[in-house]
Amino acid sequence: MTNQFTQGYDPTGSAQRIADGVYSLSQRKGGRVHAYLLDDGDALTLIDTLYDDDGARIVRAIQQIGRQITDLKHIVITHAHRSHIGGVAALKKLSGAKVWVHEWEADILAGDRKAQKCTLIPQPPLRAYYLQLGLALGLGRHSPCEPDSFVREGDRVGPLQIIHTPGHSPGHLSFYWSQRAALFAGDALATWPYVSLGWPGFNLNAKQHRQSLFKIDDLRADVIAVGHGEPATGDHMDQLRRLIHQ
Ligand SMILES: [Zn+2]
Ligand SMILES: [Zn+2]
Repeated sequence: MTNQFTQGYDPTGSAQRIADGVYSLSQRKGGRVHAYLLDDGDALTLIDTLYDDDGARIVRAIQQIGRQITDLKHIVITHAHRSHIGGVAALKKLSGAKVWVHEWEADILAGDRKAQKCTLIPQPPLRAYYLQLGLALGLGRHSPCEPDSFVREGDRVGPLQIIHTPGHSPGHLSFYWSQRAALFAGDALATWPYVSLGWPGFNLNAKQHRQSLFKIDDLRADVIAVGHGEPATGDHMDQLRRLIHQ
């Protein structure tokens, strides 16, 4: 059976509402990559920027929910891997939003340094190997963007609490919107091509990754939105919890 979950992305690119004021945006490229648009009733906050450099999908999604690009005030970045930072430069320019990132990822975002390479040895999921290869060989350029500010554990941006979840990369961040019990876990976890504790071939520090997963689990969120694949709720959330505690 094919449903939206197994596809892992919405081919129309439209915004899917997953909780009050929380919208999931996705595209096929970049491994069914997802970004999340948050409307707190005042301003808009964007978590990651999808693969495409022009940011057009995100601009369309903002219009679709009845808002304007200038309502976008904050862009927070989970980590500076190519799939997640395509639109950041264009969206910053169009909206005037502030870009927030962990210090460890900032110079990658700015184009001054390549993302740290991962292993070339194929690791599951093999459907994501082309992305692993790209990272291992230092391929894939994005339009560079100078961040406005660094964020770290305990900071707040818009409605979000910042949670440092290293392991996948040193400056990997997760974000928690407590009023919605919604956690945005970046690449610490994945639901495409199947529910997993992230993609091991990409993780730079397995021990840190494991500690970050416990930190994520401790928040007891109702929805865990991930960087690749559809947000996890219900059975998929239970599956993730079982994997974390295996
Ligand atoms: Zn990543
Ligand atoms: Zn990723």
